[in-house]
Amino acid sequence: MPPTLNQYTMQDPTKQYPGPEFDRQPQPEPGLAQNMRPKPDHGEKSYQGFGRLQGRRALITGADSGIGRAVAIAFAREGADVAINYLPAEEKDAQEVVALLREAGVKVTALRGDIGDENFCQQLVRDTVRELGGIDILVNVAGKQLYVEKIADLSTEQLEATFRVNVFAMFWLCKAALPHMPPGASIINTTSIQSYQPSPGLLDYASTKAAITAFTHALAKQVIGQGVRVNGVAPGPVWTPLQPSGGQPQEKVQQFGAEAPMKRPGQPAELAPVYVLLASQESSFVTGEIYGVTGGNHLP
Ligand code: NAD
Ligand code: MG
Repeated sequence: MPPTLNQYTMQDPTKQYPGPEFDRQPQPEPGLAQNMRPKPDHGEKSYQGFGRLQGRRALITGADSGIGRAVAIAFAREGADVAINYLPAEEKDAQEVVALLREAGVKVTALRGDIGDENFCQQLVRDTVRELGGIDILVNVAGKQLYVEKIADLSTEQLEATFRVNVFAMFWLCKAALPHMPPGASIINTTSIQSYQPSPGLLDYASTKAAITAFTHALAKQVIGQGVRVNGVAPGPVWTPLQPSGGQPQEKVQQFGAEAPMKRPGQPAELAPVYVLLASQESSFVTGEIYGVTGGNHLP
């Protein structure tokens, strides 16, 4: 990998990060970024901020690892105070993130818990408002993805759990946060290329992602009267613990990213700038939009 000085260093994007073949590396769900080989790049060494979110107060779910961690690092370096949510099993990853965010000199609060529970979602928003003094940005990144080849083997428990984390929690968090959000606030949901090009082994997951896309379009039209923008990001393959911890079978992990025109998976650090854009006033005329970050397998 060539040395990346920051996100502006000009280089060939196809060679910027490693591609397949990767090692098999099974982990229990939810996986840890710490245990991945190669280590994902969340922008720890490279993301350079310019005060684009100075003084904003952001709640980010799934912020211990993967895309959420990259977003948290970027937001903090852009001057935002940040509340991060994650699961108790992810404490080790979360502590790394807390240390990185503190280095940025912003207010940081770590709010552990399961967003599959409506009461916890309401509590999470209340705690964010109490700790940060308000909420200007809600970023829904947390997600559940478990690959199951055949519908006959897809249990009702999994179907329900995937919808709870990916769809219901987003609904509960938006509902709880909106009354606190001032004009200029921004909600960003994380959908997927799976919303548009579903894989057969991700029946439940792809369905949740299509729901997130529709929800984003509808909520944007509903709340723009309040001055709040709502957008989504649709990643293609991204090198995160979601994939080796049951999101894909190990043979697909080994080839992860091969089907993208760039012939490699994206790294979480490559997603963060789009979230920064959508969170900041720079995107003042953008709402109800879904941004693809796919390595070339574009959205329809
Ligand atoms: P990740 O494993 O790093 O992040 C997912 C996070 O979801 C976990 O860190 C965990 O904290 C959180 N989570 C899961 N269940 C939870 C629960 N019940 N309560 C609270 N938090 C919970 O993986 P990632 O790839 O960075 O995933 C982030 C988002 O990106 C997800 O919504 C995922 O669907 C989406 N996405 C990922 C890819 C990819 O290829 N990695 C592609 C498209 C979309
Ligand atoms: Mg995690």
